[in-house]
Amino acid sequence: MDLKVPENFHMEASACHLDKPCYRVVLQVEDSLDRLMPYLNAVAKVIQYEPGDDPVMILKIDGYRVALRSREIAIGSVADRQEGTEAVVSVMGFLEDIWQKRDEITPNYKPRRRPPALELYKLLPGTNCGDCGEPACMAFAVKLSLDRVTAEACPYLKKDSKSMKKVGELLGF
Ligand code: SF4
Repeated sequence: MDLKVPENFHMEASACHLDKPCYRVVLQVEDSLDRLMPYLNAVAKVIQYEPGDDPVMILKIDGYRVALRSREIAIGSVADRQEGTEAVVSVMGFLEDIWQKRDEITPNYKPRRRPPALELYKLLPGTNCGDCGEPACMAFAVKLSLDRVTAEACPYLKKDSKSMKKVGELLGF
């Protein structure tokens, strides 16, 4: 499988909850990533995995949200082209490393689905205080389930609390 860092990649404006502009890096790869995904599913921070004829995987690599399709890798969000280049190097290095180590890894073919927003909502404080920038806890839970915000954006979800641990289990971090 050819997982070398490509010379060129595309950057597109991305929806972002931050006030600054942010971008998504999109690159095409020659070889299908289908065979790599079950190995990633066994060892990486996978948020979603839909195997099948047109598999999709969403995972976290070095803090970046990465979406994989058979021949496409999308990485976001990055602030500019320099960060985009660093993210591509980091993500491609990780994917290459897992591919090289595949003989030592038992592949996992089980799908992983995003946790429903309601399940996440039950773990939030429920005060609808708005300090996370969302109008209510349910709105925050919806964005959390879509991986559009991080759990840390709710200041009342304490780092080592049971709720945060459960959120981490559901979201795969
Ligand atoms: S900061 Fe936390 S408690 Fe307040 S609205 Fe957001 S999710 Fe709910």
